[in-house]
Amino acid sequence: LRYLPLFVDLRDRDCLIVGGGEVALRKARLLVRAGARLHVVAPSVHAGLESVAASIHRRPFADGDVRPGIALAVAATASDAVNAQVAAACARAHVPVNVVDSAALSNVVFPSIVDRDPVMVAFGTGGSSPVLARLLRGQLERLLPARLGDLARLAGRYRARAVEQLQPHARRRFWERVLEGPVAASTFAGDGEAAEAALQAALRDAGAAGVPAVAAEVTLVGAGPGDPELLTLKALQALAGADVILHDALVSADVLDMARRDAVRELVGGRRGERTEPARVVARMVELARAGQRVVRLKGGDPGIFGRGGEELAGLAAAGVVARVVPGVTAALAAAAVAGVSLTHRDYADSVLIVTARRRGGAVDVDWPRLVAPRQTLAVYMGGEVLRELCAGLVAHGAAAALPALLVENATLPAGQRIVGGTLASLPDAAAPGAGDGPALLLVGEVLGLRRAPAAVTPT
Ligand code: SAH
Repeated sequence: LRYLPLFVDLRDRDCLIVGGGEVALRKARLLVRAGARLHVVAPSVHAGLESVAASIHRRPFADGDVRPGIALAVAATASDAVNAQVAAACARAHVPVNVVDSAALSNVVFPSIVDRDPVMVAFGTGGSSPVLARLLRGQLERLLPARLGDLARLAGRYRARAVEQLQPHARRRFWERVLEGPVAASTFAGDGEAAEAALQAALRDAGAAGVPAVAAEVTLVGAGPGDPELLTLKALQALAGADVILHDALVSADVLDMARRDAVRELVGGRRGERTEPARVVARMVELARAGQRVVRLKGGDPGIFGRGGEELAGLAAAGVVARVVPGVTAALAAAAVAGVSLTHRDYADSVLIVTARRRGGAVDVDWPRLVAPRQTLAVYMGGEVLRELCAGLVAHGAAAALPALLVENATLPAGQRIVGGTLASLPDAAAPGAGDGPALLLVGEVLGLRRAPAAVTPT
C-alpha cells in the first residue's frame, strides 16, 4: 500500500499554495470547498485566486513560507526547481505536500473524486495514470445514483433511533433493506416524503417482529435489444441491487451478466410460440416480493411494447404490490439505428406504426388497411416465418411492390446480426437463405430507400 487513503478535515486550517496559475486555482477551489484557509505565494496570480485566498503574497517562494502549523502545502508552479524547493522545505518542517504532476516529490496525492455529498468516493492510481483515474471516475459517476447523498442524509437522521430501538443483528438487516429497497428507490426517484414514510414503517416493523419490514415491490425493467451497453443507467442500478431476476428468453446473456453476481435468475418467458403466462409470472413476482426479495422483472426491449407489461402491471396492482417501470430501447429503434435509417423523415414519413404480426387460425391477422397508409414507416414485430405472407399481404392491400423494406435480425446482438434490404417484392427471397431463429424485425416504408449500403472496403 504505497498511499493510505484518508479523509482529512481541513476546516479553518491553514493551507499553502505555491503557484498562481490555472492548476493552482483548481486546487485552491477544492481546498476552499473543504473549508481551508488559503495562503497563496506566487509572483503573479490568477484573478480567480483573489476571491478564494485568505492571503496572497506576490513574490517568489521562500522556505520560510512553510510555517509550522500549515496543514497541507501544494506546489503548482511551472518550475521543477521551485517545486523541488517547496517539497524540500516541507520535508524539513514536516508539512504534508503535494507537488502537482510529481508523485516522486509528493507525500500526499489528490484522488479523483465522485462527489455525492456527504458520500464521497475517492480513488487514485498512485500518480501512475491520471487519465485512467479520470475514466474510472466517469464510470462511477454513471453508476452511482445522483441522489445518493440524500439517502445518506436520511439514514444519518435515523441512525441514533435505530441504535436505540434495534438489536445489532436486526439493525444491520434493517439498514440493508432500507438502503437497497423501496426507501432507496423512492429517494432516487426524488420522492423524499415517501422514502421517509417507508423508512419509519420499516423501523416500526423491524422493532416489532423482525419480519421483512418493507412493502412488497417489483421493478419492471426494459433490457433493450441485446447489447448490454444499451441498458439505461436505471436498469443497471436495478440489476445491481436485485435478489431475483425473472427474465424472458429474449433477454441476452450479456445483459444478464450485468446483474449482481449472486442474484437468482429465473427464466419465465419462452421464445417464439411458447406463451408467457402473465398470471403465472405475476403470482411468482408477488410471492417473491412479499417474502422481502428485491424482484426485477426483466423484459427484452421495452416492457410496454409487445411484452405483456400492461397485464403484469395490472396483476401487481391488484395484489397490492408496488411496481416501478424502467423503460428500455425497443427493437424498432434498435433496428433502425443499426441499419442507419431514421424512422421519420420530413419528406417521406410523418408517422411510425408499431405492430405485431401473428398467425391466428392459419392466416396472419393484422389490420391491413392501416398498415398500408401513406407517409408512414411500418415496424413489424414478428416471427420471421410470416415475412413472405406479410409482404404479399401488404401488396395485395395496395402497397407498391417496389416499396422499400428491410429485415433486421438479432439487432445489436454480438452474434448473428443480419440486415437484409429490398422491396416488398424482393425481400422475402433475399432474406430466406440463412434466416435463423433469432428475433427479427421488419421495417417498411420510403425512408428505407434512403439507406445507403456501406461503401465496399477496397484494400489499398
Ligand atoms: N418488448 C420487446 C418486444 C417483444 S416481442 C421490445 O420492446 O423490443 C418480440 C419481438 O421483438 C421479436 O419477435 C422481434 O420481432 C422483436 N425483437 C426483439 N429484439 C430484437 C432484436 N434484437 N432484433 C430484432 N428484432 C427484435
